[in-house]
Amino acid sequence: MSIPFIDLKAQAAALGARIDAAIGRVRAHGQFIGGPEVADFERRLAAFCGARHAISCANGTDALSLVLRAEGVGPGDAVFAPSFTFVATAEVVPIVGATPIFVDVRDDTFNMDPASLEAAIAQAQRLGLTPRAVIAVDLFGLAADYAALGAIAKRRGMTLIADSAQGFGASFHGRRSGALADWTTTSFFPAKPLGCYGDGGAVFTDDDARAALVRSLAAHGADADRRAYARIGVNSRLDTIQAAILIEKLAIFEDEIAARNRIAARYAQALAGLAQTPAAPEGLVCVWAQYTIQIDDRDAVAARMKEQGVPTAIHYATPLHRQPGYRHFPRAPGGLPVSERLSRRVLSLPMHAYLDETTQDRIVAALRDAMGA
Ligand SMILES: *Cc1c(COP(=O)(O)O)cnc(C)c1O
Repeated sequence: MSIPFIDLKAQAAALGARIDAAIGRVRAHGQFIGGPEVADFERRLAAFCGARHAISCANGTDALSLVLRAEGVGPGDAVFAPSFTFVATAEVVPIVGATPIFVDVRDDTFNMDPASLEAAIAQAQRLGLTPRAVIAVDLFGLAADYAALGAIAKRRGMTLIADSAQGFGASFHGRRSGALADWTTTSFFPAKPLGCYGDGGAVFTDDDARAALVRSLAAHGADADRRAYARIGVNSRLDTIQAAILIEKLAIFEDEIAARNRIAARYAQALAGLAQTPAAPEGLVCVWAQYTIQIDDRDAVAARMKEQGVPTAIHYATPLHRQPGYRHFPRAPGGLPVSERLSRRVLSLPMHAYLDETTQDRIVAALRDAMGA
């Protein structure tokens, strides 16, 4: 019997008839776009994370694009992004005409290294670019170092954006993702910690004017009364059915975060001494979008585990500054050695809130066996 990498069927079983009932209610009222569930979900989402505003949109990539457009980021501007992340973090920058500058990450958190950010800012200035924004990523579900990154952004007059596509639900010294930066974006792609049954995303901010601007940009540039188009916008909405599904999933999200943390702690115990295991720094709670270990001879180990019916994944085999479409963009001077080393050593193990102990033991045994331990 093969093991699923992420078991969405087990989650559906845990939710029982609630999702079907939620979809049925939308089918009955028929407001498939802009139905009452959308605003209801936005209110619950904002309350969950402590942000003043949550604005839903079509996906996590749009969420980032909307933020850059709302900030007026454009040609001549430098936007700093980690190289060790999913491509969407960086792709939105050239789309608005600005220049992404790649920053290295830390080996222990997988997140942006503040020292590398400082070096990259100096590099941007040498290139004649204006340092405008930092996109920090909460990679694998762990919040970035918002204390250090926020201080740098503030000192340099830059906007701090949290790409929390993988980190919604995470907390940093008692505050939650959504309320840790000037802007936060997230994704409801099915495999993310809080996922829907298709695409979805959201933008968070505490600033009333910024929130109104993003709402307008996501609705074709319309004014609040929808009579005039004050600006050029796009169409980026969360479908009512997805909002209805997310209301049900948000209701059990807190329990799922606790379950993911129990499973991560069990992995850490079982793998001690065998592999470099991930750990949340003091004061941080991770949501474990991925459980990612570091080992030598990664590809051979992954292949041997696959033979035993245990799936693994590699996030990410190539850092963005080495991708053909991105390697011409600037990067922090001195190269990005940690991103490069991680791309050779990382291996993500099955992780979801419904991973039972028997299955987890099988995964650990397969890893031990594959490593010849
Ligand atoms: C998934 C992801 C995105 C994009 O989200 P979509 O909803 O798929 O557009 C952006 N950034 C990171 C780090 C992601 O993991």
